[in-house]
Amino acid sequence: MTSDEIKALDEQYVMQTYGRYDVAIEHGEGATLYSPEGKQYIDFTSGIGVSSIGYGNKEWAEAVYAQALKLQHISNLFYSEPYVKLASELTSRAGMAKVFFSNAGGEANEGMIKIARKYSFDKYGKGRSTIISLLQSFHGRTITTLAATGQDEFHNYFFPFTEGFIHVPANDIKALEDTLGAESASEPGGGVCALMIELIQGEGGVLPLDPGYVKAVADICAANDLLLLVDEVQTGVGRTGSLFAYQQYGISPDVVSFAKGIAGGLPMGGIMANEKCSGVFTPGTHATTFGANPVAAAGALEVLRQLDDAALAAILEKGAYACDAIKGWNLPVVQEIRGMGLMIGISLDGAAPKKVAQTCSENGLLILTAGADALRMMPPLTITYDELDKGLAILKTVLEGTYDE
Ligand SMILES: *Cc1c(COP(=O)(O)O)cnc(C)c1O
Repeated sequence: MTSDEIKALDEQYVMQTYGRYDVAIEHGEGATLYSPEGKQYIDFTSGIGVSSIGYGNKEWAEAVYAQALKLQHISNLFYSEPYVKLASELTSRAGMAKVFFSNAGGEANEGMIKIARKYSFDKYGKGRSTIISLLQSFHGRTITTLAATGQDEFHNYFFPFTEGFIHVPANDIKALEDTLGAESASEPGGGVCALMIELIQGEGGVLPLDPGYVKAVADICAANDLLLLVDEVQTGVGRTGSLFAYQQYGISPDVVSFAKGIAGGLPMGGIMANEKCSGVFTPGTHATTFGANPVAAAGALEVLRQLDDAALAAILEKGAYACDAIKGWNLPVVQEIRGMGLMIGISLDGAAPKKVAQTCSENGLLILTAGADALRMMPPLTITYDELDKGLAILKTVLEGTYDE
């Protein structure tokens, strides 16, 4: 099919929920994608952090293929080897006790919210169920994770939303303390059971939390038996140069969620909990049909195998290389460069990110936007320096043009 034929069918048969770019992709190799007509794109998006080890990754494809031939699915009512291998590899590298696998980020966060509420219910009874999350956060598209998301634009149309979420500004310990004080005054024993944070707010604009704030939040949680829930759906699986971002922040969450990059392009998400929280779910209290299906688990095991210590170190180096390159352009349109590893936000002054991203796509570079003012760069973690250079050259030309306009 040609790109135009694909677009026509999409318009006719698909619910138009996405503001799609005018780009159809047919195949990829490394961090380079090709349209049906053979137009080449450098990919700074990785399917929003999903294609973590790039396209046409032969070892990954072979692992997935071999598992698909052997056993493509078995109900979670039975045991299987890929599932437990993945569970032990992931939890030991993450320093967490146990895992529950699901299929996507929103579903993972639902599980995280359920653990927090059940932990509190088991220990304190009803009424201690409020979860505090941060303004500018993004936690998913289900009714409950929309309620957890700290951006007003997501709190529309689908009323009533799930109760029990409060949003406070990020990097403001006093606002958090005041809210906790007010909540415990209004509810005997305190109405709050958990805090939910992204260490780098991805959709909100690639906004890293201050390390001092994160440490203080962890201390407040520990002192009040509030669970610290960390949403690493976007930051996890090597994106920031460590397997999980909390490993660089020097905290250990009670529960952490992951999804996007974990299985290299196959749908998978999940949550890991520490000792304190890993017995909260008991048989019958949480489940999912597909979670860590053998094929997805085989893909995830191969992703973890490829993301060894050398690969993680290379992610930090490539991220620093890209940030230095962009800084070196000295373009007035570039206001700030922020992020960690290969999760980079470039806030713009006097140019609309969406328009810049569109112009980039016309010129052979796919790049994301984040928040109101930023471009977001999240290439496959395996991107080569040659591909980085090519993509950065396109970005520079487009940003120079934008500035000249
Ligand atoms: C993408 C994302 C989600 C939602 O994940 P889905 O797989 O789309 O459900 C949740 N939290 C964060 C931080 C995300 O980036």
